[in-house]
Parts: sequence; structure tokens; C-alpha cells
Amino acid sequence: MGLLLLFHVVLVAMVASVPCTHAWGKDGHYMVCKVAEQYLTRKASRAVMDLLPEEAEGEFASVCSWADQVRFRYRWASPLHYINTPAGVCNFDYERDCHNSKGQQHMCVVGAINNFTMQLQTYYEDPSSEYNLPESLKFLAHFMGDVHQPMHVGFDNDEGGNTIAVHWYRRKSNLHHVWDVNILETAKRKFYDNDLTSMIDAIRTNITDEWSDEVDEWKTCPEKSMACADGYASESIQLACDYAYKDVDQGSTLEDDYFLSRLPVIEKRIAQAGVRLATLLNRIFSRKVAQYK
Ligand SMILES: [Zn+2]
Repeated sequence: MGLLLLFHVVLVAMVASVPCTHAWGKDGHYMVCKVAEQYLTRKASRAVMDLLPEEAEGEFASVCSWADQVRFRYRWASPLHYINTPAGVCNFDYERDCHNSKGQQHMCVVGAINNFTMQLQTYYEDPSSEYNLPESLKFLAHFMGDVHQPMHVGFDNDEGGNTIAVHWYRRKSNLHHVWDVNILETAKRKFYDNDLTSMIDAIRTNITDEWSDEVDEWKTCPEKSMACADGYASESIQLACDYAYKDVDQGSTLEDDYFLSRLPVIEKRIAQAGVRLATLLNRIFSRKVAQYK
């Protein structure tokens, strides 16, 4: 028993020390879904509430990091958080890039968004759906966030910036983690008195103010696909090249210049992810009146 307990403690310590390599940090995903909550139609909102687990207590945003919490249990889902393009290639090609390390097609964040969108479209159809729709919703909400994080569509030779060691001010980090966590964390501390709610409010205000002319364009989908995620991945790799990778080398120290010029990019990506997640859910759940609910 004692040995088992020790093993458990060691295991927990190991898991806790593995750096998060998959996602906007918790704050990023929470912000995306908080933005989305505001743009859901009544019908979509009702469906979302219906699919939320009890422990969410009716708050959609509380489940948006779930896909990271289960990444050790759901190993198969691990490649679904990102896309790798060939080294130095600043565009996304579904055929070329959307696969896992074994070459299985569709196993990338865009494939995942398409798949969970398709699953959720069965919501009104069959009460005994073959899919676990509460999980489909949690995955979709998470991956719509990930596909907007520029470093989630990065180069394969540096694992989306994970192997580019940098200093974030005085602390050791890596380029992927800078975009997942460090920039947002520093902004929260410096500009928002460590208050996530006021940071979310600032983004919501920008959507109705500074970016109001662009919002309609964010929602439009020139592609044939329902989820429209190919375009979001293309935007991300372009931003990765223009902002994330730019002027960064192995061992670089990133400070105010980098922070202040990249923060607006991240804030807008969070806004876009939130608005687009809501638009997608509105589309998915607008289809039919519930037949059995
Ligand atoms: Zn993720």
C-alpha cells in the first residue's frame, strides 16, 4: 500500500512537471469561450447548456480547457491540438499538413474541428446518438481556440516553437509557451491588475469598438466547409511567420519590444476565436427545432 501510494505521488509529480505543450493556457481558452458566450443565439445557448456537465454549473467557459486536462488519458487526441507545416513554410495545405506522426489523415486541429462539428450536427436527430456529444462540444470549444493560436500552426522542425528555448524577460521559457501563456500572463499582471475579468471586458469592448468594422468579415466563410477552419489555420501560420518567429533565435531574450508588439495580435486572435466559435455553434444548432427535447 505504502509503495503504491509513493508510486502515485511520484506519478502525480511527474505529470505536474510536464510542461504544457498543447494549448493556449487556461486563461486563453477561458477568454475565448467567455467572448463566445456573449454571441450565442438563444437556441444555441440552450443546446450548449443542455450538453454541459453538471459541474460546469451553467458556465460554458469552464469546460474549455478540459481537452488539455485529459490529454494523458486521451492519447489519440494529442495531435488534434495543432498542425505542423514543413520548416519555413508559411501556408497551410490540408492534404500535406493535416495528419498525425503516423501519417493518418485528418488527425490535426482542422480535421478535429470538422469532425466534432459533424458530430454535433446530429444533436437534434437521434436521442441515442453514437457520439458522446457533451465531449464533442468540449473538444470543439477547445480546438477553435487552439487553431487561432498562431504557434499551434508552426513548423515541424521546431515543434511549433517548443524546441526554441528563449528567456521571457528573466525567466526561462520556449517560444510556444510564450504564445500560450507568457504574453497573456504578463499583460494580465501589467495592465489589468491580475484580474482576468477586466482583461476579458477589454477584449469585448474592442470587438464593439476598435474592431467593429472587421467583425462581419471574421464571421464570413468563403470556404465550402461548415466549420471554415482551413482559413483560420492559414491565418495562424501567416501570423506565426510575421510575428511569432520573427526576430527570434534559439536563446533569444524577449522583453518589452516583443511583448508590446505581439500582444495586440494575441488579443485579436482571442476575439476572433470567440466570435467564430459562437458563429459556428449558432450555425450547428440553428438547423432544426428539437424533436425530442
Ligand atoms: Zn489544446
